[in-house]
Amino acid sequence: MQILYNSTRGLENNVPASQAILKGLASDGGLFVPQQIPRLDVDPEILKGLSYKELAFEIMKRFLTDYTEEELKYCIDHAYDDKFEVPEAAAMHDCGNACFLELYHGATIAFKDMALSILPYLMTTAAKKNNMSNEIVILTATSGDTGKAALAGFADVPGIRIIVFYPKDGVSRVQEKQMITQKGDNTCVIAIRGNFDDAQTGVKKMFNDKELQKELAEAGFEFSSANSINIGRLVPQIVYYVWAYYQMVNMGKVASGEKINIVVPTGNFGNILAAYYAYRMGLPVNRLICASNENKVLFDFFETGIYDKNREFILTSSPSMDILVSSNLERLIFETTGYDADKSSAYMAALRTGGKYEITPEMKEKMSIFVGGTADESETAAVIRKYFTEKNYILDPHTAVGAAVYEKYVEQMEDRTPAVIASTASPYKFARSVLTAIDRKYDEHDDMTLFSDLNSLSKMPMPKAITELFDAPVRHNTVIDIEDMKKTVKESLMKG
Ligand SMILES: *Cc1c(COP(=O)(O)O)cnc(C)c1O
Repeated sequence: MQILYNSTRGLENNVPASQAILKGLASDGGLFVPQQIPRLDVDPEILKGLSYKELAFEIMKRFLTDYTEEELKYCIDHAYDDKFEVPEAAAMHDCGNACFLELYHGATIAFKDMALSILPYLMTTAAKKNNMSNEIVILTATSGDTGKAALAGFADVPGIRIIVFYPKDGVSRVQEKQMITQKGDNTCVIAIRGNFDDAQTGVKKMFNDKELQKELAEAGFEFSSANSINIGRLVPQIVYYVWAYYQMVNMGKVASGEKINIVVPTGNFGNILAAYYAYRMGLPVNRLICASNENKVLFDFFETGIYDKNREFILTSSPSMDILVSSNLERLIFETTGYDADKSSAYMAALRTGGKYEITPEMKEKMSIFVGGTADESETAAVIRKYFTEKNYILDPHTAVGAAVYEKYVEQMEDRTPAVIASTASPYKFARSVLTAIDRKYDEHDDMTLFSDLNSLSKMPMPKAITELFDAPVRHNTVIDIEDMKKTVKESLMKG
């Protein structure tokens, strides 16, 4: 079955997967959505015995139908290799009724590696298939983790340049150090004086700037995106939910066919949307629990049906979830309008102009698999302390938001369905927040001491991503105002 992609804004339809991946965002400003969600029509007895790579192939071939089997296998083999410091790219940690799905064993120790280690292969393969002659320019806005994972994936890939914008005061010290020390002549990292939403808006504006695109095309460049708006990010993320389910089966937590709950600490709504697609493919899911930090736009949305970004932007200890405009929600909106691009465009226009929209009760009903939850800073810290003292397991602040929301959900709803909690970052990436949650005394230690503190408390080996930071020289130090993003992109590309 051939799967084609339509824009959520209705002006670009019937696009093959490889072209949707090359473009990132549709030319009408919309997001590409598969015209239908394929079923995972494979015997569960077979699925539960597949390796991560074999499962990735089964799932990705159903979405990326214009790639040949050889092309997909090539991409998968090169992506999920020994860059991952566990045998299977992901790992499960058993905490009783809930298991943590550790997605942070890749090169940059956050879950973004799961998709961004394969996206460069999908993209260069797509460029070849489509006889593209222009150089691809990956423009990316990051709340901290996407930036580094994309830089690591695309560094020194021939035919591709990458430019990353991050909010100067909106990322952790480790996140910033990881980005500004990035090697590779095709990489460019820029801090902006603003927050993540400013960075994301600035990037989206450049994607919609026809004038700029024409000018760059004449110089031999074409934009694409490594953000989770790219369907090439979303599809690889479906794999680990299916993989986790069959791990739960193999661990004896559920019988094959029995439902699980999935808890996802959420920002841009990309990771949880992948879980939703897994469900739509046929994975037995009872509830998708969308966990927000104090920026709880999504929690309010699932409670009331009103999306309202008119509120204070709060900087929290889970910076990768400090987001008020969750881009990927547009895909769910489009789907629940019954693939009606006029309606979904109108909602997005209302969001742009008034910062707000309200969906219909029918749409809300179609989203009832989702439950929202939120945890504030003190609940997040308390759960980190609790898991450390009671279970000897250390959570990063993002995963802790998920765990705190899960615990409140079980208590309120008395729903004891076995659960998978997506563990989205290594505690090493947020060592200061994690350790001060355990004991305030750690706040006096410098960054390097904190890593060895964490090492002795957790007994988790220090990942390579951390050890290689120790004496890496700073290679990027540009800080700009939001208004200068476009000018900076032009200068960076034109200087050669
Ligand atoms: C990106 C990120 C998230 C949020 O994921 P979305 O797909 O944007 O919802 C959560 N935790 C960590 C550590 C992240 O890097």
